Amino acid sequence: MVSAMDSAASSETPATSATGLRHELGQARTELDRLSTEYDELLADPDVIQEDRDATRTLVEVARGHVRDVEQAIVRIESGTYGRCAKCGDDIPAERLEALPDADTCVTCG
Ligand SMILES: [Zn+2]
Repeated sequence: MVSAMDSAASSETPATSATGLRHELGQARTELDRLSTEYDELLADPDVIQEDRDATRTLVEVARGHVRDVEQAIVRIESGTYGRCAKCGDDIPAERLEALPDADTCVTCG
């Protein structure tokens, strides 16, 4: 059982903590909003070439996927399954979680 979760008085907020992930989620949503707005503007602008629209739409999709991944990581922290591989059940190495805080699989399965 983890009990140190709500006593986060420390100034350090590792990306792999619930606080760090909420921060990450805020940034991811801001980025998604920014890209969505940009995409809407590109759609409304008749001088924009389709390639630019497609490129931005791809970025919007990536940003949306990132928001979803971080949301799921927060759910896993709250349910106590964070840091465990969703496929084989092994612990995900700390270095991998630091590099990819929303990773839900180990290196072998990912
Ligand atoms: Zn695995």
